[in-house]
Amino acid sequence: MAGGRCCEAGAQLEWKTSNPAESDVSHAYVELEHVSLRYGGADGTLALNAASLSVNEGEFVAVVGPSGCGKSTLMRLVTGLWQPSAGQVFVAGNAVSGPLSIAGMAFQNPTLLPWRNVLDNVMLPLEIVRPHRRRLRRERAEYEARAKALLALVGLGGFEARFPWQLSGGMQQRVSLCRALIHEPRLLMLDEPFGALDIFTREELWAILQEVWMARRPTVILVTHDLREAAFLADRVCVMSARPGRILISRSVDLPRPRTLESTYLPAFTALTHDLRTYISEAREQVHA
Ligand code: ADP
Repeated sequence: MAGGRCCEAGAQLEWKTSNPAESDVSHAYVELEHVSLRYGGADGTLALNAASLSVNEGEFVAVVGPSGCGKSTLMRLVTGLWQPSAGQVFVAGNAVSGPLSIAGMAFQNPTLLPWRNVLDNVMLPLEIVRPHRRRLRRERAEYEARAKALLALVGLGGFEARFPWQLSGGMQQRVSLCRALIHEPRLLMLDEPFGALDIFTREELWAILQEVWMARRPTVILVTHDLREAAFLADRVCVMSARPGRILISRSVDLPRPRTLESTYLPAFTALTHDLRTYISEAREQVHA
C-alpha cells in the first residue's frame, strides 16, 4: 500500500508491499505437520501432540485455547526457538531448524532495554538481523527515519528520546510492536502482546495493529486468551485442545475490514465470540471428563 493512514499528521511510511486488495494470500507460509513437543525427556510434559496448522501468506491467524494447552510452545516451534520431538515445521517453504530472522516477535512483557531510549530500542533488531546489520552504518539516517515513522504510526511521535521507565505500559508495548516491525518481517509472531494492559489501551492497540497489518500485510500468528481480540483482529481463529495441544477447530472471521470497536457489539461479532467460548469450554471439559 502506498502510505497507510497514520495516527499522526504527516507520518507516512513507504510500504514495500502492494495494495492489500491485490495481496496474494493463497500460499501456505507457515506449516506445522503433526508436530509434537515433549519438554524434559521421555518422562517430561507432552505440550503438543500431532498439532497441524497451515497459515497462508499475508493471513492473520489467532490461536486461542485453554491455559497451558501449548500456545506459547507452538510459537517457539514456529520461530525455531525449540525443535519438535516429532513432526516438522516449515516457514516460507523451508524446514525450520534454528531461530528465524525473518520473524518479528512481541510478547506480553515488552522487554525493552532500560538503558536505551525509545528510538534505540526500536532500532535494536537492525543491529542483529542481516542484511540490516551491514547496512546500518551507511544508511543510519534512512533507518532512523523508518523507526520514527513507525513510532508516529503507533502514536509515539516525539517520544524517541524517552527511556522505557518514562513510559506507561501501553506506550512500552507500542515501542515493542515497532521493534518487532522495524526490519519489515514477513512473519509477525505475537504472544499475548496486550495481555497485561487495561481494556481501553488494549482496544486502542487492536486498532493500531489492524492498521499496520492492513498496510503491510505480514503473515501474523497471534496467541491470545481474549476472544474479542481474536475476533477483532484475525482472518481466522484456531482453537486448541487442552494439553497436549493440537488444533481442534479453525473458524474464519467473515467480518469486513477495517473493523471498528462499534462492530464488536454487532450480533455477528458477539455470536462469533460466543461460539469461540463454547469451543474452548468443550476443549476444557474433554480433559476433565
Ligand atoms: P500456554 O501458552 O497455552 O499457556 P505453554 O506452551 O506455555 O502453554 O505450556 C504448555 C505446557 O508445557 C504447560 O504444561 C507448561 O507447564 C509446559 N511447559 C512450557 N514450557 C516448558 C518448559 N520450558 N519446560 C517444561 N515444561 C514446559
